[in-house]
Amino acid sequence: MPRLQSRHQREATFLELAQRMYSELETWYDDHPQASFGEIETEARQRRRDMKGEMLALLINGRDVGYQLQPPVCAQCGQAMEFEKYRGWQVKGLEGDTELQRAYYVCPQCEGQTLFPPRP
Ligand SMILES: [Zn+2]
Repeated sequence: MPRLQSRHQREATFLELAQRMYSELETWYDDHPQASFGEIETEARQRRRDMKGEMLALLINGRDVGYQLQPPVCAQCGQAMEFEKYRGWQVKGLEGDTELQRAYYVCPQCEGQTLFPPRP
């Protein structure tokens, strides 16, 4: 997922997610024309759950997740730390899981000096 999007970009991406979910539901109903209301609802609920997880990831990960143009300095030696990667972790939500991410920095000099910068 592209990170650090503008609000406008995030909204556009969300509309794509919603459109894809609805389109898949249309296809599913085409393939199951005899489905009862309850079956349609069950199908829609699962897809909504998946979409909600993606929506929350977009809402949160699409903003600042700790990456800094000016790298943070090591608390131990004062040298600039190096960006290593984005670390992800799963959050259990009310309806489903969401993968959140934070920038992860390490000090090239000191063993074990790592940092997940807080939000500014
Ligand atoms: Zn250091």
